[in-house]
Amino acid sequence: ATPTSIMVGTGRGAENGILIKGGEHLEKAYALKTIVLDKTGTITRGQPSLTDVFITAPDMDERELLRLVASLEKGSEHPLGEAIVKGAREKDTELVDPRGFEAIPGHGVSGQVGDKQLLVGNRRLLASRNIAISAIQDTVEKLEGEGKTAMLVAVNNRAAGVVAVADTVKDTSAEAIRALKEMGIETIMITGDNRRTAEAIARQVGIASQNVLAEVLPQDKAREVNKLKEQGRVVGMVGDGINDAPALATADVGFAIGTGTDVAMEAADITLMRGDLRGVAASIKLSRATMRNIK
Ligand code: ADP
Ligand code: MG
Repeated sequence: ATPTSIMVGTGRGAENGILIKGGEHLEKAYALKTIVLDKTGTITRGQPSLTDVFITAPDMDERELLRLVASLEKGSEHPLGEAIVKGAREKDTELVDPRGFEAIPGHGVSGQVGDKQLLVGNRRLLASRNIAISAIQDTVEKLEGEGKTAMLVAVNNRAAGVVAVADTVKDTSAEAIRALKEMGIETIMITGDNRRTAEAIARQVGIASQNVLAEVLPQDKAREVNKLKEQGRVVGMVGDGINDAPALATADVGFAIGTGTDVAMEAADITLMRGDLRGVAASIKLSRATMRNIK
């Protein structure tokens, strides 16, 4: 495209809350055929809230389990941990500081609260410590089927219960994904969350279950984007989190959600200031119009 049409396109983008870092990104976006979308904070609002506490240990009640888990999560900066702490405080739970807190990326957290050794996280976390989960498995699956993120709790190395949080999809996500489809663009969801939860959310926004990449470790998101590129596709990635930055940089065009982290915005080529997915289709339309001007 000519420098003038690029300038016009970039300016028009800015007027519509689409901040394009350089003309070359506007020139590339028209060719996008596949868009990878992060789940939490991109498709969903990214503000999970505590919904369920389930106890199986006979010597404890739900209130005590929540007190232990939320006390441990005081050490966490993860949105899931923050949701649990907030939910517990709203129920006037007295929290204490954990000892020996450790965050295990993509898995969960561990540490001591009082005289108890705690683990809170996904199946992978409990499996890595050889803790049997049969006592809580059905509850976990039921919660996940509702689109909730269920976190398994082990106390002193035994499965003791489950806490769940729910995040809601942005009311613009389904419409935005439909618009991309109408433009002939395939959408793929990527998340560290478990498959059942991810598919329940995907269903709500019209993404097919075979287009869900679930249980992807933070460091592997970029690799998944690269695999798609190696199949010869022109791939866009949309994300909001620190976790998403390498994948945003790997994609042919990286889109950051403007309400997300600075790290994501630095890694991306285009920032969607309005904070929702409609900006992706709008960016590609703008690119198509810009490129048409020169032909
Ligand atoms: P996401 O893309 O969903 O933010 P992460 O890779 O950060 O994924 O986390 C993957 C999974 O690890 C979560 O779905 C959860 O099961 C578990 N997890 C991560 N952090 C925590 C935490 N602070 N407390 C409990 N579970 C956690
Ligand atoms: Mg996210």
